[in-house]
Amino acid sequence: MEQKILAYFREHEDEIFADLKTLVAAEASTSDIKELAECRKVLERLIKERTGCEPYVYRAENGHDVVRFEYGNGAEKVLLIGHYDTVHPIGALQYYKEGNELHGPGVMDMKSGLISAIWNVKAYRDLEIDPGKKLVFAFNGDEETGSPESEAIICELAKGAKAALVCEPCVSNGDLKTGRKGTLNFIVKIHGKASHAGSAHKDGINAIEEMAKEVLYIQGLTDYEAGTTVNVGVCSGGTKVNVVPDLAVFEVDCRYKTKKEGERIREAICGLAVGVPGTSREVMVIDGKLPMEETEANLALFDVAKQCGEALGLSFSHQFVGGGSDGNEVSAMGIPTLDGLGAHGDLAHTPNEYLLIDQFIPRMALLGAVIVKI
Ligand SMILES: [Zn+2]
Repeated sequence: MEQKILAYFREHEDEIFADLKTLVAAEASTSDIKELAECRKVLERLIKERTGCEPYVYRAENGHDVVRFEYGNGAEKVLLIGHYDTVHPIGALQYYKEGNELHGPGVMDMKSGLISAIWNVKAYRDLEIDPGKKLVFAFNGDEETGSPESEAIICELAKGAKAALVCEPCVSNGDLKTGRKGTLNFIVKIHGKASHAGSAHKDGINAIEEMAKEVLYIQGLTDYEAGTTVNVGVCSGGTKVNVVPDLAVFEVDCRYKTKKEGERIREAICGLAVGVPGTSREVMVIDGKLPMEETEANLALFDVAKQCGEALGLSFSHQFVGGGSDGNEVSAMGIPTLDGLGAHGDLAHTPNEYLLIDQFIPRMALLGAVIVKI
């Protein structure tokens, strides 16, 4: 079956790369709603023309619409996740080939993943391969800013799914992604009491002194072994050197691998008792993505992918990576999730982003085989 799909894609290689060029040329920057809508129209047309499926569009208030289409029947459901927005400003990058590298805005992250998903449905149809389950595809337009308008829709579509497959690029060495860290940010405000640093030093309560104690404590919450990093990245306080400062503010970035670790950090920072008598503190928590934990179920999906890869002459391992994707929230719902089933390339989120041309067709076949085998 793997070889059959691979042969089909090789036969249609020119059309596949032409579709990829069309979709990349329809540039889409998350914040540029007009261009995003144009790109979405191209995407809808490709879905219709290649798969015969009618896409459904969820209209979002700020224009980051989600495109959904479905294929196949069966009691079981598999969700395929992808995004059509990119981080690149419109007109910033060119589409060109250089040796085995294909460059262009979002060519790897992740217009290629969308083309792969669409063409796999076409392959099933033309080759009369029954995936044996209902496939639900959800493509959003605000992934690069944390999916504020699409997360709830994706989570709703994920309910009851047997698995979620994320068509984001694989790691640059070819590995798939079985875990992704969660993120938490904090803004801590310390209040003290202002006074003259000379004549009334004793009457003042120094907010910066309290901040200094807290920064040292919070930095110490890092636990590399557990995969938890805590970084105080910004701090400010005071007004003049001769005034005891009554206000200090600092910001904290935390990345973590398990919900338990996220809770540990949250409790430690929110529940911290002040060390400088008379100060008070306010903590604002900004919840980022929950972690995609490296569960047994995620690893079981990887094992299937590894076997499919071997049948296609691909060898890769799996990794727990730092940045989040829409797979994080779905995985946190308890849905087995495997990420990195899109294209192979490197330098995502940089002007030099590229896709490895000779790896694209085998990676497409990998996705097609995994869908059938799980
Ligand atoms: Zn992406």
